[in-house]
Amino acid sequence: MLDEPRIQRYARQVLLRDVGERGQEALGTVRVELALPREVAGAAATYLRAGGSAVDEPPRAADVWADTPPLLGSDPAHHLRIVAAPAMPEGACIVLGARGEADALWSIAEEGCRACLRAVTASLLPPRTLPITSVEVGSLVALLVQRRALGLAPSLEGVEVSGSGALATLSAPVCTHRPPAVPASVLVELVRHLAAALPDEGCAVLLGRDDAVRLVPMENAQASHHARDPDAFPRTARTAFTFDPRAWLALLRGADAAGEQVLAIAHSHPDGGEHFSAEDRRSAAPDGRPLLPGVAHLVVAFRDGKPQSARWAVWTDGDFREAACLLPAGI
Ligand SMILES: [Zn+2]
Ligand SMILES: [Zn+2]
Repeated sequence: MLDEPRIQRYARQVLLRDVGERGQEALGTVRVELALPREVAGAAATYLRAGGSAVDEPPRAADVWADTPPLLGSDPAHHLRIVAAPAMPEGACIVLGARGEADALWSIAEEGCRACLRAVTASLLPPRTLPITSVEVGSLVALLVQRRALGLAPSLEGVEVSGSGALATLSAPVCTHRPPAVPASVLVELVRHLAAALPDEGCAVLLGRDDAVRLVPMENAQASHHARDPDAFPRTARTAFTFDPRAWLALLRGADAAGEQVLAIAHSHPDGGEHFSAEDRRSAAPDGRPLLPGVAHLVVAFRDGKPQSARWAVWTDGDFREAACLLPAGI
């Protein structure tokens, strides 16, 4: 709870719809570490302190900042680092850099995708300090910190200030570095379809549009490929899967027409192997690059006919990285 002097002091913000008393308390739980050029850092620190957040002073710029006591008197719970490109600290942070004549700022939440942040900041140069825009950029740093503290910011957001001071929001990429969120009911459907293919490997595709995910069960065409051309397809359907090319093309056309995206390709390992195997990696990225960029892979391991575990394999920074996928209980 804010006491009377603090309500007085922050009266203007407390009255804002997006701040209020709880918002003002949230601003007071933030401690900001500014590692930016002096002019920008000075402006940012002034706005942040006026807003009730604590600011750690880099020693070299300590003299230029107003001395404002911290808001709540207790240790701030959230730390945010503000750095100049090309630095990229862990945790919640804001990266400031130059892009042509413009300054770009990217703000990422604690749980935001670092690979996406790396992608959007890779081409940024160290920020210039133009007297004409440094106060504006500093106030934007403060605004981005406050949006993060108030829970108003998406996990990755960007803003650009042109050389003449015009503002534009930057669109964050759609993240393909993390497994898609799949509802339990769809996972149950998937496991049933894969179980029906045992003792062969089963396969399926997960399609998504907005937040909706649906399963498209696929036939494993490996058996017929192997029977027709055992030299080109030495493995049987017990240890490999392939889509029928016509079925795959029909699926892609249908998904395109419906505005759906291929989120993932799922297959089973009937023998219990829980990892995305060397063979899986070779067929998903034959020349070291994924055949289907942005599409995740899901392996469901069975043992004695029962689903044991499931693991995602997602292409991130030049390799497939695995992550556990929790199967619903009781299937
Ligand atoms: Zn990402
Ligand atoms: Zn496999």
